[in-house]
Order: sequence, then C-alpha cells, then structure tokens
Amino acid sequence: MSIGANLAHIRHNIDLAAARRREAPVTGPGVKVVAVTKNRDAAAVREVLAAGATAVGENRVQEAATKAVLLPPAEWHLIGHLQTNKVRQAVPLFSLIHSLDSERLALEVERAAARADKRQDVLIQVNVAGEDTKSGVAPDEMTALAALVSGLPHVRLCGLMTMAPFYEDVEEARPVFRELYRMFAALRAAALPNTDIEWLSMGMTNDYSVAVEEGANLVRIGTAIFGPRHY
Ligand SMILES: *Cc1c(COP(=O)(O)O)cnc(C)c1O
Repeated sequence: MSIGANLAHIRHNIDLAAARRREAPVTGPGVKVVAVTKNRDAAAVREVLAAGATAVGENRVQEAATKAVLLPPAEWHLIGHLQTNKVRQAVPLFSLIHSLDSERLALEVERAAARADKRQDVLIQVNVAGEDTKSGVAPDEMTALAALVSGLPHVRLCGLMTMAPFYEDVEEARPVFRELYRMFAALRAAALPNTDIEWLSMGMTNDYSVAVEEGANLVRIGTAIFGPRHY
C-alpha cells in the first residue's frame, strides 16, 4: 500500500480505538500521529507530508537537521534520547522534544532555549516498565523533574512519553499505558506553574490501538506508514 493509504488506515484504526476508550480523553484535541521518519530518505518524508501528516519524528538530531533543510516546513519532533552535547543544535529545530529524562538535560535545554530566544516544549520520558535498555526517568522520579522544569522560564512541560516493552501479545502493554495515563492525570491535576500538560505520547506500530484506548493523544508510528526499516 502507499504511504497515504497506510496513513488513512492508521487514522481509521485510531478512530475505532478512541471510540473504545474507557474514559473521556483528558485533553481536547484529537489524536495526533507523529510519522517516524528515522532511516527514511527525504523523498519518503515529503510523501508523508503530502499525504497530510503534520508532524514528523526523528531519533537523531543530525539526521533531522539534514532532512529538514530539504523539505517544506513541518513540525519536527525529537523522539530519541538527547545527549547534552546535541542540545544546542536540537533546540532551534524541534517543536517538541519527547525525551527529556534528566535534570542535567533540562538545564541544558533551558540554556540553549534562552540563547535561541525560544520557549522549548518538552515531554518527560518515563521508563514505566523499568527496562535497562530504555531511557527515561523512573516513575518515582517524574514529579521531581516536572517541578524542576516548571521553574525554567524557557522550557514548557507539555506532558509525558513512554515506550512500552515489545510484547508478542500487545495486551501486555496495556498496564504500562494505563500507568502512564494515571501519572499524566496526576500531573495535570497538580497544575504546576509554567506548564501546559496536554500531550500523552505513547503507542507505536505494534501497540498504538491499545495506547489510544488507554488515553494516548500522540502516537509515534514508523513501520505501519513506511514499511519495514532497512538499517
Ligand atoms: C522508531 C521509534 C518509533 C516508531 O516505531 P515503529 O515500530 O516503526 O512504529 C516510535 N517511538 C520511538 C521512540 C522510536 O524510536
């Protein structure tokens, strides 16, 4: 199938999943698809933008920078781990950084955003399942990091992100998403100053329907749009 047809199919599945939600979504706007374009060339990114995608997600700062100059304006999202030495390059490029995972990184983003005269939107990545191979803060560290970010004038906390472990049976991911939703609702209720808690980023190709059922409103999808990645 074409990229456009794949995207339409995903949107349809998202609508079905949203209709199965147990609880009303906590935020107004519908579910946004971030087209994950890591390891795809600029032509593929152009095609997904032409098909109506508005947000593209990259894991690496340099790869995004190389492609962005070749393409029409789009919302670029950083979904991969951010190293402190890449922050200065990342801040002017990305509308939303999904992967804030330490105080040190938060302070570095503040410094770079002040210098770029920008308010940088970020999500805190939470390692809900406690996997060694994944980045993100431990669940019991989220509140302290959110409080720190709330005090940074050039950084705006907009929500939370997680990557569930890969399970053969996608139902096993549900408790992970449910737990992040619970943390997200608590973070919203805390109403920290200088925050705008509206995005819950969870769900990828294999588990986005379950994530949406559990309240995701930002899903990060690569393979289901573009086909298998060839590294
Ligand atoms: C690669 C990646 C995705 C997309 O994965 P697919 O399985 O191809 O949909 C989503 N989120 C993150 C953080 C990724 O690195």
